[in-house]
Amino acid sequence: MKRNLGVLLLLALACANPDGRLRPETDATGVSWLRHGRTDAEQRFSPLHQIDEHNVAQLGIAWSYDTRSIRGLEATPLVADGVLYATASWSVVFAVDAATGEERWRYDPGVPRSKAVHACCDVVNRGVALHRGRVYVGTLDGRLIALDADTGAPVWEVQTFDPAQAYTITGAPRVVKNKVIIGNGGAEYGVRGFVSAYDAATGDLAWRFYTVPGDPSLPPESAALERALPTWKGGRWWEVGGGGTAWDSMAYDAKLDLLYIGTGNGSPWTRKLRSPGGGDNLYLSSILALRPDSGELVWHYQTTPGDSWDYTATQHILLADLEIAGRMRQVLFQAPKNGFFYVLDRATGELLSADPYVPVSWATHVDLSNGRPVYAENAFYEDGPTSVLPGPTGGHSWHPMSWNPQTGLVYIPVQQIPMVYAHDPHFVHRPGIWNMGIDGVVGASSIGKGAIEGALLAWDPLAKRPVWRIDHRRPWNGGLLTTAGNLVFQGTGHATFEARRATDGELLFQAPMTTGVVAPPITYQIDGEQYIAVLAGWGGGFALASADPPAETVASGNAGRLIAFKLGGTGALDVPTLARELPSPIASRPTTAKQRKRGFDAFHVWCATCHGPAAIGGGTIPDLRYSSVATYQALDAIVLDGAYEAKGMPRFDEWLSQDDVHAIRAYLTQQREALLSEAAH
Ligand code: CA
Repeated sequence: MKRNLGVLLLLALACANPDGRLRPETDATGVSWLRHGRTDAEQRFSPLHQIDEHNVAQLGIAWSYDTRSIRGLEATPLVADGVLYATASWSVVFAVDAATGEERWRYDPGVPRSKAVHACCDVVNRGVALHRGRVYVGTLDGRLIALDADTGAPVWEVQTFDPAQAYTITGAPRVVKNKVIIGNGGAEYGVRGFVSAYDAATGDLAWRFYTVPGDPSLPPESAALERALPTWKGGRWWEVGGGGTAWDSMAYDAKLDLLYIGTGNGSPWTRKLRSPGGGDNLYLSSILALRPDSGELVWHYQTTPGDSWDYTATQHILLADLEIAGRMRQVLFQAPKNGFFYVLDRATGELLSADPYVPVSWATHVDLSNGRPVYAENAFYEDGPTSVLPGPTGGHSWHPMSWNPQTGLVYIPVQQIPMVYAHDPHFVHRPGIWNMGIDGVVGASSIGKGAIEGALLAWDPLAKRPVWRIDHRRPWNGGLLTTAGNLVFQGTGHATFEARRATDGELLFQAPMTTGVVAPPITYQIDGEQYIAVLAGWGGGFALASADPPAETVASGNAGRLIAFKLGGTGALDVPTLARELPSPIASRPTTAKQRKRGFDAFHVWCATCHGPAAIGGGTIPDLRYSSVATYQALDAIVLDGAYEAKGMPRFDEWLSQDDVHAIRAYLTQQREALLSEAAH
């Protein structure tokens, strides 16, 4: 009898709330933040308006949480039932009281630090998904883990890719129709992209969609791949992987029952190596509309046919309803890396407009009659090295944009970072490491040269032009949040957090951060008080590959924090200040100009993407000019024997010889001496 009563009680509870806790579909008020982009449409617009353009100057720190991380923080926090869930570097998950910042639990999946070698763009994670009392996270080493939302205890765990391959997960999973959807990254290394759907309750694989064809001697996995195969011509792309990894963006339209997924660049980058006979190479750099029940492809739009520039279409996909020429259209916005702002009919995939939101030099325009770009002369750099806009970091990267239906504007964190593209005449496929097919010395040493810009752009998708633009001090600024308070919130690469009037961009509030910010803010309300929360932690691809860290990042040692603001908040940030002393000179070993040149080349092929061009660190990974004399002496053991593997520094003995390491040391010593001599003048 007692047992029956218990069953009845459970049944009654289930009827009152059939999906149990954390039921996202019901939150129209904006009090919670239940989905990655707040809702499945991923607009990152909140209807909350307690904080508005008139009082935002009274914002202060409500609380802050030490994430105990010194690498990049890119997560969008989620908030449900008064608890905030987020991730830090190395796929660590944490839950805190959303009103006080008090830690509820913390879960470290124990990602092996040696996995960093496969992470092109830092050991970052963009957040969790919530569903029916569970928290879902994808880890850098490819596990999808379901945690109990109350305790952080693992419920199930699956490995989503072959761990022997150079895949990673940095993106946030999404839950659609009781399935957890997850993609992966790795196209710089040579992998084949795919998206998987797992049963949210059990972790069983429901379906998998490969984004590019595999070995053509084997049967294709789907009808979509059969259609894609003729767009790959010649070459043996499947041996390198082909690319097309879906490492970040997704959105879902429940009425159309379409799941939208953005795919990435080719593996290798250059079509000449991947598909020497030309062709579009479907479904690289594309927006895919899939059936969430089966993974069947319904339509696709390819933003960059034949991609040879790392022009991923993994950038934020945002769903909106827009009146165009007197007719309400269900549209989809994307500002992918290639510099064009696309408006598509999201029911059919029809291209409605495509206009440059930043300077573009690879194509003259997009032809609306066939939806295809018109390539500029030597765009494919087949006639020699050329600087192309946008560069591989894109006119806009993963940092989410935001759509405000009240202003009719899309807010985009844009940038200009040119790079010189040149074919690698000596390309050979080397599994597990960078396989781009471009000249790494020319490329890496040109990043950060030329006109570098970063800005916040307010784009009118109807007029197809910017309405206002605020130039920031540097590129690689934070993702965006816009609210019904006529506000736009953004953290910046110059270590501030800012609020601007959404209609005209006027700066209304600014607060110092512990370090550069790349993550997007969120907002929520608890006990009648509205909060704005954002993670501060400088990092990501450009942060590693640039030589210009924010001063605050260097001073704080990139101290990661989750910071929450509210009106009248009186909290303060406890920021460590690290004195950075000039390095001691190194007793010079005799080196030759030839050896230093060899060191320059080897450094820019093997080291610069993390340690920065010219050995000038980007602020999240050690600046080697400042390393101890002991480190210089131990360079053989570190680079060849993996002495620092536990710290995330991979071993390179498969690729580099002792002579290479000595040449790198000679080059590093020269750069260290240049730093000392500069300081002396
Ligand atoms: Ca890429």
